[in-house]
Amino acid sequence: MIRHIKTAKASIEQGGTDSAVTRTVEALLAKVRDGGDKAVRALSVQFDGFDRETYRLTKEEIAHCVNSLAPREREDLDFAQDQIRRFAEAQKAALKDIEVETLAGVVLGHKNVPIQNVGCYVPGGKYPLLASAHMTVLTARVAGCERIITCAPPFQGRIAEKIVAAQALAGADEIYCLGGVQAIAAMAYGTETIEPVDMLAGPGNAYVAEAKRLLFGHVGIDLFAGPTETLVIADDSVDGELVATDLLGQAEHGVNSPAILITNSEKLARDTLAEIERLLQILPTAAVAGKAWEDFGEIILCDTVDEMVAEGDRVASEHVQVMTRDPDYFLEKMKNYGALFLGARTNVAFGDKVIGTNHTLPTNKAARYTGGLWVGKFLKTCTYQKVLTDEASALIGAYSSRLCLMEGFSGHAEQANIRVRRYGGRNVGY
Ligand code: NAD
Repeated sequence: MIRHIKTAKASIEQGGTDSAVTRTVEALLAKVRDGGDKAVRALSVQFDGFDRETYRLTKEEIAHCVNSLAPREREDLDFAQDQIRRFAEAQKAALKDIEVETLAGVVLGHKNVPIQNVGCYVPGGKYPLLASAHMTVLTARVAGCERIITCAPPFQGRIAEKIVAAQALAGADEIYCLGGVQAIAAMAYGTETIEPVDMLAGPGNAYVAEAKRLLFGHVGIDLFAGPTETLVIADDSVDGELVATDLLGQAEHGVNSPAILITNSEKLARDTLAEIERLLQILPTAAVAGKAWEDFGEIILCDTVDEMVAEGDRVASEHVQVMTRDPDYFLEKMKNYGALFLGARTNVAFGDKVIGTNHTLPTNKAARYTGGLWVGKFLKTCTYQKVLTDEASALIGAYSSRLCLMEGFSGHAEQANIRVRRYGGRNVGY
């Protein structure tokens, strides 16, 4: 049986964001589509208090950002990027092109072709999320994309220098100091200074995620990666302090960031509640994390481990941290999650910043149908076919002709018939 020890006060609409956000974003997209650079500049002033003639950073500015990193910061960034590159390269190596002969003389194949022009968004309104530069730009680079441009908002009214350094070290071709819907729209539609891209990638707040969703079709998008969510699945093998730390650690992303605990231990549930109260007295980001916990925090008490699996799949959270006696059971059974963090030794902050798996992950139940960003999202799997012999052409031609006519396509049928006549030296028998 499932019981709630704490329920959420509010809920986030599934499959998108609330309609007020949609209306705002639609209007902003239209402004940039119709107004180009001038509109982008006005919106950047309006939302970020940031104005300059051109949003593209110069080589000198980029070099300054990289050179301003302290040696320790540079070493940390290099270490993180090495881990992310290593895992992305392993993913790329596992993606094989295929070519098979399915019938004598019939050859079918697919090739993984990198998307040429990619726009990577690096969020930075509340925190300069430089890790998103490794997660997007570097992954696209490993995939083999030709042109990779990237936007991040100014931070507190100034160019976010550490983000720029991370974008440059990750291998970006063009770097723009531009945030929110104006950045997403500028990359998708193009402006006088920004050549449009074929695909958008990267996480962001509700406005950014909604802009990408609305632009899908005009450009490709990686996935719906909006406000952070976290789910901890734990039993009494861990204590309330650890669970509370992991819930609040992600709730600090924003007041709309859900943090949920699923447990089969009522004692752990009660201890976690108490620890959250205690930690909110000392956490520097308590104002945000506390509000997120108050509005969207939940504690769900289950009787059995299989109920915990089922509840976890129902929640379909972006991050799922499993701290139970047998975390591998959840790896085996769970189906809906952005990323799993298995065992108490690891946690979401490792994945967010450094361990090597991608932190751009599905939110708002998108984990029901997609995983997170990875090399494969920057590749198109395109098929091809060849028919090597006259016999094979005539054989497939006869089937094709009859199947075309079953659908009423006489023009299609004739494309097949002409090959049966030319390569088979006969007419199709019906
Ligand atoms: P952001 O860069 O996503 O958004 C900042 C921009 O939002 C600003 O440049 C501004 O233009 C725009 N904006 C702000 N208020 C607006 C308004 N009222 N109307 C229109 N536009 C407005 O940075 P952020 O706000 O700090 O959000 C980062 C988000 O990214 C967080 O919600 C975080 O949880 C999320 N995130 C998600 C993932 C994931 O993979 N799902 C990963 C990391 C971060």
